[in-house]
Amino acid sequence: MKVSENIQEYLEILWIFEEEGKKPAKINEIANGLNIAAPSAVEMLRKMADEGFVVYEARKGITLTKKGREIARQIIRNHRLSELLLTKVIRTKIDEDAVCGFEHHISEEIADAVCTILNHPKECPHGKSIPRGKCCPKA
Ligand SMILES: [Zn+2]
Ligand SMILES: [Zn+2]
Repeated sequence: MKVSENIQEYLEILWIFEEEGKKPAKINEIANGLNIAAPSAVEMLRKMADEGFVVYEARKGITLTKKGREIARQIIRNHRLSELLLTKVIRTKIDEDAVCGFEHHISEEIADAVCTILNHPKECPHGKSIPRGKCCPKA
């Protein structure tokens, strides 16, 4: 499914907040994290709720839906595998722009190929866990 990069950025940060135990995520924290004004975040998150990516609860905050989480998972996986691709395969330092480009544009097939070259790593260079792909051995 094609999802705009803007929506992908929101889904990505919601995944990270969830990992940190911030669930539901607060609008202000999302806005700060993405470096945008809170009213713009509200507008976008309402739209994303209409489209079924998140659940928007006025006083509680934002939670990923199954659909939103599925996409976030792939972006996070792309992001963390790209970091390893740069540090372990290409042997450069982590270039955030490059990682950000990869995370939105590589297909699942390419992500799985990178994962396989790297022998299905469990963690990115920052020690964050990499969601498993179809290529990864079970258990
Ligand atoms: Zn990382
Ligand atoms: Zn794998």
